[in-house]
Amino acid sequence: MAVLDQLTSSQEAIDLENKYGAHNYHPLPVVLNKGEGVFVWDVEGKKYYDFLSAYSAVNQGHCHPKIVDAMIQQAQTLALTSRAFYNDVLGGYEKYVTEYFGFDKVLPMNTGAEAVETAIKLCRKWAYEVKGIEENEANIIVCENNFHGRTTTIISFSNDEDARKNFGPFTSGFIKIEYDNLVALEETLETTKNVAGFLVEPIQGEAGVYVPSEGYLTKAKALCKKHNVLFIADEVQTGIARTGKLLAVNHENVHPDILILGKAISGGVYPVSAVLANNKIMNVIKPGQHGSTFGGNPIAASVAVAALEVVKDENLADNAEYLGQIFRKEISTFAETNSLVKLVRGKGLLNAILINDTEDSSTAWDICIKLRDNGLLAKPTHGNIIRFAPPLVMNEEQLMDCIAIIKNTINEF
Ligand SMILES: *Cc1c(COP(=O)(O)O)cnc(C)c1O
Repeated sequence: MAVLDQLTSSQEAIDLENKYGAHNYHPLPVVLNKGEGVFVWDVEGKKYYDFLSAYSAVNQGHCHPKIVDAMIQQAQTLALTSRAFYNDVLGGYEKYVTEYFGFDKVLPMNTGAEAVETAIKLCRKWAYEVKGIEENEANIIVCENNFHGRTTTIISFSNDEDARKNFGPFTSGFIKIEYDNLVALEETLETTKNVAGFLVEPIQGEAGVYVPSEGYLTKAKALCKKHNVLFIADEVQTGIARTGKLLAVNHENVHPDILILGKAISGGVYPVSAVLANNKIMNVIKPGQHGSTFGGNPIAASVAVAALEVVKDENLADNAEYLGQIFRKEISTFAETNSLVKLVRGKGLLNAILINDTEDSSTAWDICIKLRDNGLLAKPTHGNIIRFAPPLVMNEEQLMDCIAIIKNTINEF
C-alpha cells in the first residue's frame, strides 16, 4: 500500500490529518502505529501505557491474538452477506451473546450511537404497540450531562453545547432530569403522561466518571417497573468488565429491560454494537422496520464471540475490580499530600481524577501532555477531569508502574 507507506515522522501524520481531515476531534499530539496488550507505540518508536483504551473499546488489550485470529479467519472465509440472506455465523453469536447477558434476543448493529438509536426506536414501538401509548406521544426520560453518541436524535437530548449548537432542529419526545436524583425520576414518572422509557448510563463516563449513589440503579429500576416504563441501560462504555463486573448494573443486581452494548464487545478491532431485550419487547420489530447492512455481519459475529470469550477466560472483571481498588487507594492517599488532585472516583478500572483548577483552565490538558512525555496516555474529559481507563489485561506490577508515573508527573506541577 504505497499510499500509506510514506510517513516518516509524527509531525507529518499530524499535518496530513490537519490538512485533509475534518477537524471534529482535538487529539493529544501523539501518533501511534502499533499496539499490544496494555501498550502502544508511536511513529518514533516510543512506548506508552494506554490509559484510555479507545474510550473502553480495548478492554481486552490491543490486538488480542485470539480476537485478531477470529477476525482474520472469518475475513478470509466470508465477510459480508447483508441480512438479505442468512449466514452461518450470526445465529451462533446471537445464541452466545443472549445467554451471556441473560436476554431472549439481540439486535445487532455496528456503533454505539446506532445501538442507542435502535433502543430508542424499540422503546417507542413497544410503547405504542404493547403499552398502548397514543401514536407520537411517547416520552423517554434521560439524564442531564448524558453521553449517548452523536446522531441528530441523540444530540437532541444532550446538554453539551458543542455537540448541539447549529445542528437543530432536534427530535422531540425526551425529558431531561438530574442524574442520580430518584426524587426527580419519581416526580417525572408520576406527573408526566406517556412515559415509555428511562435511558441511563450506570456510570456517566464522558461527563467525568460520575458514579451514582449506591442504590440508585436498583430504585430507579423499581420505579420504572411500577410505572410500566422500560429501564434502558447504556453500557457502551461501562459494560464488558470495565467497572469490575460484567455489567455496571450488576453491582446492584439490576437487570435492564433493554441493554445497549458497543465498544469492548469487539475488543476494539471492529465496530460491533448490540441491543438486547426479551421477546415481549424485541418482538415488536418486524421485517423491514429496522436494520443495517453491516449489522450482524460474519466478521462482527466471529469477533464478538472471541472478544466475549476472552473476557471470561482471562477473568477481566475480577482483575478490573482488584486493580481498581489499588488504583483508587493509591491515588486518594496521594491526593491528601498533593493539592492539585482534588479527588479520585470510579469503579473497577473506570476512574477519573478531578484537578483542583477552574473548568476552563488548561491544567488537565497540560498534565496529559506531561504524562505522554513520561510514557502514559490519558485525556481530559470535561475541562479539569482526567479519565484513567487502561486495558483490563493489565497486571499489578504494570499498574504500580503507572501509578508512579502519574504521581511523579503531577508532582512536577
Ligand atoms: C461511546 C459511547 C456511545 C457512542 O458510541 P459510538 O460507537 O462512538 O457511536 C454511546 N454511549 C456511551 C455511554 C458511550 O460511552
